[in-house]
Amino acid sequence: MNIVCVICSELLTPSDDVFHTPCGHIFHYVCLLQWFDRSQTCPQCRLKATHQSSHRIYFNFSNDVIEEDVATLQNRIDNMNFQLKLKDKDLNNLTEDNKNLKYQTNKLKQKIIEVESEITKKVNAIYAYKEQIISYKQYCMATENDKKENNELKKKIEHLRNVQNLLDSSTTEVDDVISKTNDTSKLVTYITVLKGELNKIYGKNKELKDKWKNEQQKFMDASKKNKHLVQECAKQKYINV
Ligand SMILES: [Zn+2]
Ligand SMILES: [Zn+2]
Repeated sequence: MNIVCVICSELLTPSDDVFHTPCGHIFHYVCLLQWFDRSQTCPQCRLKATHQSSHRIYFNFSNDVIEEDVATLQNRIDNMNFQLKLKDKDLNNLTEDNKNLKYQTNKLKQKIIEVESEITKKVNAIYAYKEQIISYKQYCMATENDKKENNELKKKIEHLRNVQNLLDSSTTEVDDVISKTNDTSKLVTYITVLKGELNKIYGKNKELKDKWKNEQQKFMDASKKNKHLVQECAKQKYINV
């Protein structure tokens, strides 16, 4: 009696692990396990069946040699030969695939070497660029400092020019400049400068006053002398007469 597993269409042999579903159908254990991964039914009659509800079957084979008819055996041999040819074809295909994969792997390895070399070049270039950037940054900072210094000097020159203009201007113009200035520090400088100028004028004034006093004294002395001389002259005239 030949019993077939409907899942793989192979005959069940005495050495196979055989299981039955609750409905009584029997299959290879491995085939049934794979089937239950997809469906919880009997592969043959579709009644509900699970791994837990299926059980192993133990056959008691007699030691009598069962003579199979020649046709059946020939059929099995033909079937096996056919399976063997299919496997050979698969093997050839797999060998060819393997060859292609090896070729592709070698090409990819070559590509990886190229890419790695390219990466090394890029990393070196990046390092060089970084160095350049640091150098540019330092240059920019120096330029920025120069710029600041320049601006400070410009401001100072502008300020001094304003002070000079202030000194050269008339009272009305000075008044106008000061009334238009909102910057307190500028105003303080203007006042200091003007104070300095005023002190200079006071100094000059004092000097002139002293000079004037001196001259007045000289004039008074000269007047006294003159008066004295006139009196002397008058005396002499009187004596001579
Ligand atoms: Zn099977
Ligand atoms: Zn069934």
